[in-house]
Amino acid sequence: MRVAMDTAHLDWPFFDAGSRAFARDVGGWAEAHLADGAHPTSRDAVDARCRALVAMLGESGLLRHAVAGTAHGGAAERIDTRNLCLARETLAFHDGLADFAFAMQGLGSGALSLAGSEAQKARWLPEVAAGRALAAFCLSEPEAGSDVAAMACRARHDGAGWVLDGEKTWISNGGIADLHVVFARTGEGEPGRPSSGISAFAVPADAPGFAVAERIDVMAPHPLARLRFDGCRLGPEALIGAEGEGFKIAMRTLDVFRTSVAAAALGFGRRALHEGLARATSRTMFGQALADFQLTQAALATMATETDAAALLVYRAAWARDQGRTVTREAAMAKLAATEGAQRTIDRALQMWGGAGVVSGNTVERLYRDIRALRIYEGATEVQQLIIGRDLVKGFGR
Ligand SMILES: Cc1cc2nc3c(=O)[nH]c(=O)nc-3n(C[C@H](O)[C@H](O)[C@H](O)COP(=O)(O)OP(=O)(O)OC[C@H]3O[C@@H](n4cnc5c(N)ncnc54)[C@H](O)[C@@H]3O)c2cc1C
Repeated sequence: MRVAMDTAHLDWPFFDAGSRAFARDVGGWAEAHLADGAHPTSRDAVDARCRALVAMLGESGLLRHAVAGTAHGGAAERIDTRNLCLARETLAFHDGLADFAFAMQGLGSGALSLAGSEAQKARWLPEVAAGRALAAFCLSEPEAGSDVAAMACRARHDGAGWVLDGEKTWISNGGIADLHVVFARTGEGEPGRPSSGISAFAVPADAPGFAVAERIDVMAPHPLARLRFDGCRLGPEALIGAEGEGFKIAMRTLDVFRTSVAAAALGFGRRALHEGLARATSRTMFGQALADFQLTQAALATMATETDAAALLVYRAAWARDQGRTVTREAAMAKLAATEGAQRTIDRALQMWGGAGVVSGNTVERLYRDIRALRIYEGATEVQQLIIGRDLVKGFGR
């Protein structure tokens, strides 16, 4: 059944006429093209659905909002964070895999949008924006997740080019991506700053020495893999930005996309609120509707309040970034509040559905699985808490 998303928040002052028009477009597209968001049941079906969604999002023009530079297929010179968030909120409301497909095109090519050479942008961004090339962001390793600087994957000079050796894991779009932006150690870095020895590379899927070592199946199915680089040879054109700038490029990319993870969580939470209301108002028990009980109204009030709080934090961070401000703290607050809040809202909605809530294929059951990984990737909740806490202490003069 097609469900329209509540868009009352579009009246807020964070938005201008352009963002409101964009929100209407993406909402109309999602209602027309995304059915019930059911999870595909096999790996092949997940891969096929993901490729199809990327192609559809490319054809619709929506993916242009995930890359920067009008000369290279982008909708604007700079990624508009509010549009990015509106797209992710809306897609997540309808279909978690559609949100994933959209987000990965942006995250996977983000290093090129932000720091790529003209030649790198010209080669990849138009293909990514059109949905013809799939992109992956390759930062995490088996022994370097939250602790990014513990990275062991290495790139060494080889004549004019590079040779890459090591592993990356938990790589979204791994197994189906055409472009991999890979972060690797090219030196030890300055004393006390090991992250300054990291560089970024654009690695095509057909690079010699590149292999998909293992596909990983997860609770909310999407393409995910461990990747291996065994003497993987790259030309000089593979280096993104300057040698040693990779960590900064990764953090700049995450500064843009972290707020959008919060927006996706907001979309999941908003859908759960809708599902909770639909159930509470239609289920009768003890001679009245479930929604007539004060306990239910208290739960709904908490769900709506957490959803609005998340939306305020998401669009504050997005608006501030679009004003050119540094939003490290605001983005961390948005991700922390939106992902944790959506998890609680989804759990409450599922509870209202009773036994039906845990039946495979029920929307709240799907949301329950869709939300979980968002509290871990692009910086786990505890990492966001540390970012906020450190910033507060620093701002207090220490
Ligand atoms: C579905 C999914 C998709 C992903 N996609 C990508 C991708 O496309 N590209 C990519 O590079 N990576 C990706 N990741 C990896 C993700 O970013 C890492 O899983 C994440 O950074 C955590 O790293 P880890 O799994 O090694 O956990 P660890 O670093 O071992 O952390 C485990 C837990 O420890 C806690 N913790 C962490 N730091 C602290 C602290 N300082 N104090 C107290 N507790 C702490 C947190 O609760 C954390 O969940 C993905 C992960 C998942 C689950």
